[in-house]
Amino acid sequence: MIDQVAYVAMHTSPLALPGTGNAGGMNVYLDELARTMSGRGIEVTIFTRRVDEDAPELIEVVPGYRLATLRAGPTTELPTDCLAPFVAEFADGLVKWASIHGADFDLVHSHYWLSGQVGVIVKRELGIPLANSFHTLGRVKDAARHPDEPSSSTVRLLAEEDVIAASDCVIASTPYEFDDLLTHYRARPERLCVSPPGIDHDVFVPGDRDEARRKLGLDGAPIVLFVGRLQRHKGPDVAVDAHARLVERVGDAELVLVGGPSGRDGDATVELLSERIAAHGTADRVRFVPAQPHAAMADWYRAADVLIMPSRSESFGLVAAEAQACGLPVVASRVGGIPHIVKDAESGILVDDHRPDDLAAALHAVITSPSFRADLSAAAIRFADRFSWSATADRLLELYAGIVG
Ligand code: UDP
Repeated sequence: MIDQVAYVAMHTSPLALPGTGNAGGMNVYLDELARTMSGRGIEVTIFTRRVDEDAPELIEVVPGYRLATLRAGPTTELPTDCLAPFVAEFADGLVKWASIHGADFDLVHSHYWLSGQVGVIVKRELGIPLANSFHTLGRVKDAARHPDEPSSSTVRLLAEEDVIAASDCVIASTPYEFDDLLTHYRARPERLCVSPPGIDHDVFVPGDRDEARRKLGLDGAPIVLFVGRLQRHKGPDVAVDAHARLVERVGDAELVLVGGPSGRDGDATVELLSERIAAHGTADRVRFVPAQPHAAMADWYRAADVLIMPSRSESFGLVAAEAQACGLPVVASRVGGIPHIVKDAESGILVDDHRPDDLAAALHAVITSPSFRADLSAAAIRFADRFSWSATADRLLELYAGIVG
C-alpha cells in the first residue's frame, strides 16, 4: 500500500509553462501524474529548486498534491548544466524537509539525471526505495545530435551510470528506451521496466478544424504544425526546410511553430531559423507562436492539417501523442519512442532520416489527399486511446508496490 510519494524535479517546476526554457514533456508528466495520484488518495510532494525569493516555499496545488521549493545554490534561474554542484545541498534540504514536516515517504521517484543523483542520496539517508525516470538519456542524445549541438558532459554520463546502478527500478517510457538502457548503459534488465506517459483525454479530443482556426485567427491555407522547444535537437530547421520544399509543390501551405527558445543557444537557434526562412523566401508563410498554456494546445492540433516532428531523438514525444488524440496525423522522423506512438502508414508517416525532401513528400501526401488524411486521422484517434494518465498511474503503482515490498 502506497501512501506518500516524493517526486524530485530539481531543475524544473511542474508548474512552469511547457514548450520553452527548461520546461517540456517532463513538466506535463509530473503535473498530470501528481494530480492523478492525489485523486487516488496518495499524498504526492514534488520537490523543485527555489528560483524565486518571493515564491511560497510550499504550495498545495490540489488536495494531496504539494509543491515544495528547496534552496540549492543561488535563488535564480540557472542553465540546467550548471546545477550539478548543488545536488548535495538540494538532497540535504529534502531530507531535512521530510523530518521537519513529519513526512513518511514510501519511496522517492526522481526525474532526469540531476534529480536521479538527489534520489540516490535521499534513498540512502531516508532508507526508502528509489525509482528513476530519465526522460532523456545523454548517450542516446549524443548518438543522434546535430553537429552543432554540444555533447553531454562527462558529469552527466557518469551520473546516469550511478543512478542506474543505485535505482531499485529505472522506468523507461517505451520498449525502445528500455533497449537503449540495455545497449548504451548495460543496465540490469531485472531493474528495468516500462511505463508510458499519458494524455488528458478531456482536453485533447478531436474538434472542428474551421472553428479552431477562427479562434486562433488562422486562414484557410493548409497548415503544417511544429510544436516544441526551439532547439536544434527538435529539428525546427528541418521543419523550415521541409516546408519550403512543400511550398514549391503546393504553393500556399503554412508552417506554424508553437514554442519558445530553450537552453544556452536558444536565441541563436531562433535567429538562425529566421535567416533560413528569409533565404527560402517563405517568411510570409511561416508563423512563430510563443509557448502556449498546455490546455490551449488542443486548438492548435485541431486547426492544423498535419504535425511535423523531425526530432533527432525522442524518448517518448508527448506532442505526437496529443496531436493524434485530436485526430491530427503525424509526419515524424523514425527516432526513439516515436514508432511506439505513431503507426507508420496508419496514423501518420515515419521517415527514416531528417531529409527535408522526404519529409516534404510525406507532408504532401497527407495534405493533398483528403481521404488518406481522414484514414490517418481516424487511426490516430484510436492509437492515442491507449495512453491515459490513469493507465500510467496504474502501472506506476504496480511498480512502486514491487520495490516497496
Ligand atoms: N507544450 C505546451 N505548450 C507549448 C509547447 C509545448 O504545453 O507551447 C507541451 C506539449 O503539449 C507537450 C510538451 O510540452 O505536452 C512537450 O513534450 P514532448 O514530449 O513532445 O517534448 P519534450 O519537451 O519532453 O522534449
